[in-house]
Amino acid sequence: MKKWVFLLVMLLPLGCEAIQQEPQAINVEYSNTGDQAREAAPQKKAPTKTQTKAQTIKVTKSQVYQGNLLLVNKQYPVHEEGVTADVVNLFRDKELTQGYVVLDKTIRLSQDVAQKFQTMVNAAAKEGVSSFMISSGYRDNKEQGQLYKSMGADYALPAGYSEHNLGLSLDIGSTQTEMNRAPEGKWLQKNAWAYGFILRYPKDKTEITGIKYEPWHFRYVGLPHSAIMQEKNLTLEQYLDFLKEQKKVSATVEGKAYEVSYYPVSGNTSIPVPVGRSYELSGNNMDGVIVTLLP
Ligand SMILES: [Zn+2]
Repeated sequence: MKKWVFLLVMLLPLGCEAIQQEPQAINVEYSNTGDQAREAAPQKKAPTKTQTKAQTIKVTKSQVYQGNLLLVNKQYPVHEEGVTADVVNLFRDKELTQGYVVLDKTIRLSQDVAQKFQTMVNAAAKEGVSSFMISSGYRDNKEQGQLYKSMGADYALPAGYSEHNLGLSLDIGSTQTEMNRAPEGKWLQKNAWAYGFILRYPKDKTEITGIKYEPWHFRYVGLPHSAIMQEKNLTLEQYLDFLKEQKKVSATVEGKAYEVSYYPVSGNTSIPVPVGRSYELSGNNMDGVIVTLLP
């Protein structure tokens, strides 16, 4: 029998000054489904026989180490295949850096993440917050090793154990003042989730992340993940555990419905996805993959 647990959580109204740009609410539903109950989404005894047809996708072990949801920390290093393929030099790409400053010529980042960042910066500018700076992005292992030496273990991680080695993380500053006090920092803490970003090392989660509070370090994970994490106050570590426990989570963000499912992967694994539905796949860098059905 299928057990359904419904929890409806409303997000606190997010300041009303934004003109319908921000989501008003995130609805999140959790369901604990047994593995055998995955293929058909129960429709509360719908009178018609409309069943979602599923196709099977094949997932290999290497996909556990690729994607936007990889957990990288002291325990879980970046695998070679985890480094984002679209890293670009931001200093040379003027189109990607309109509306903000890059600290120096070496700043690199995933192109996709840079585009998302630009969208976010444009939204902030409309609210009068416009002094953003990227001070660090992608780092290769050599750069990370040097940083670890100079910064120490509280603020940096050894080569291969930093999110910066993925290309999905960036350190964001304000050209006005330190991020802790800057309007840019405050704006991001409140709004970054709506653009797929998370504050990766929050003040109240240092015991979980093992890293001191870093108001400047943001990580791209994408929607709806950033929204769920914000709404439930979860770090990436906690969110991935949560998905593993729940197996399936439905989330509605800005009226758009997503479905997020966790699957363990040991060898080659077959995963059912509904025919005709767009989806994204990401490993968790530990033991499985997360399939996100898109709106
Ligand atoms: Zn950082």
